[in-house]
Amino acid sequence: MTKKIYLDNAATTQLSPEVFNDMMPYLSTQFGNPSSVHAFGREARLAVERSRKTVAGLLGVRPSTITFTGSGTEANNMAILSAARTGSIKHIITSSVEHHAVLHPVERTGLPFSVLTSDHNGRPSIDQLELHLMKIKGSCFVSLMAANNETGALTDINYAAKICQKHEAIYHTDAVQYIGHYPMDLGAMPVHFASASGHKFHGPKGTGILYTKEGTPLKALFEGGGQEKGIRSGTENVAGIVGFARALEIATRDYERNRQHILNLRTQLKTTIKEVCPNAVINEDLREESLYSVLSVSFPVKDSGEDLVLRLDSNGIAVSGGSACTVGAVSHVMRAIGKGQGYETVRFSFSVFNTPVEIKNVISILKNIMQKEV
Ligand code: PLP
Repeated sequence: MTKKIYLDNAATTQLSPEVFNDMMPYLSTQFGNPSSVHAFGREARLAVERSRKTVAGLLGVRPSTITFTGSGTEANNMAILSAARTGSIKHIITSSVEHHAVLHPVERTGLPFSVLTSDHNGRPSIDQLELHLMKIKGSCFVSLMAANNETGALTDINYAAKICQKHEAIYHTDAVQYIGHYPMDLGAMPVHFASASGHKFHGPKGTGILYTKEGTPLKALFEGGGQEKGIRSGTENVAGIVGFARALEIATRDYERNRQHILNLRTQLKTTIKEVCPNAVINEDLREESLYSVLSVSFPVKDSGEDLVLRLDSNGIAVSGGSACTVGAVSHVMRAIGKGQGYETVRFSFSVFNTPVEIKNVISILKNIMQKEV
C-alpha cells in the first residue's frame, strides 16, 4: 500500500517538531508544579507566564486576559456557562452552524435562546443578528463562530462584534478554526470572549485558551486551588501551555508562507475535482473568502456511491465526512445548509505538511472510485 495521506487537518494536526522540542523539558526534567514555591515550581511558573505573555502579545491583548484551558470545548463552555452564571444575561443568540461545544452549553444554561440561520455555505446571517438584538429586551450574550469547521465559511466577526457593541451585547466567538490560521488582533475588536485550541495548528491536544476582555463578568465553573486567577482551578498543563504558545508563535511567524502553500494545494484539488466528478458541489461562496485550509465537497451519492469517506480511508486517504449519510445521520451543519439527503459531503482539510504529489494521488484515487475501479 502506498504512503497514507492525511487530509483531515481540521480534525487535528500533526504536532510540530519545533513545538515538541520546546515541550520536552516540561515533560521530563522541569516537572515542577507552578504553584510550588521552590525552584522547581518557580521554573514551571515562569514557563506558564512566559507562554501567557507570548500568546497575549500575538493576539494584541494583555496577558491577564488569557486563561489556559484543557481544550477549545472547555473554552467555549467556560465562556457561555460562566457568563450565564453571573445572572446578568437574559437571552442568548447563536447560530445553526455552531459546533456542539457551543450549542450544547447554550442549551445547558436554561436561558431562552435564538438560533440564527445561515446561508447555503454555512455563514450565519448577521442581518438576522441585528433584528434579534433590536427585538430582545434585556442583556444578550451572542456566540458566533469565526470559521466553520465543516465548510470553512468565515463569519465577518468584526461586523458581528460591532453590532453587538451597538446593542450592548456580550460577544463570544468560537475561533477554534481561525486562531492559528489567521493573525488576529483581538485587542482591536469589540469582542468579549474568544476561544482557541492548540491541536488545530500543530500544537498539543488538550490545550486551549479563553480570551476574556478586561472587566467582563464571569463566575468560575470549577472551584479548587484558584489557579488561572480563580477562573479555572486545576494544576496547569505546563508542557501543553508551552506547546500552545510555541505553536501560535510558529503559525504567526510562518503565516504568509503556509497560507500560500496550503492555498495552492486547495486550488489544485478544487480545480481537478470537477473533472473527476462534474456534479460535485463545492461548498463555498466565490464572492467571499473561505478558510484556506478547508475544501468541503458534496458528492451526489448516485455518482460517488455510498461510504466515500470509508472507501477513501481504505485507499489510504484520511478525510472527514461533513455528513455520515449512510446511517442517515446527516450533520447539523449540512442539514442547515441544505446538503442532506442524496449527497455525501467530504471535508478535505490541509496543512503545511501536505504536498502537491499527495493531492495528485488523491485525485487519481477519486477518479478510480468514481469509475468504480476500486
Ligand atoms: N469549535 C470548533 C469550531 C471546532 O472545530 C472544534 C473541534 O473540532 C472545537 C470547537 C472543539 O475543540 P477541541 O477539540 O479543542 O475541544
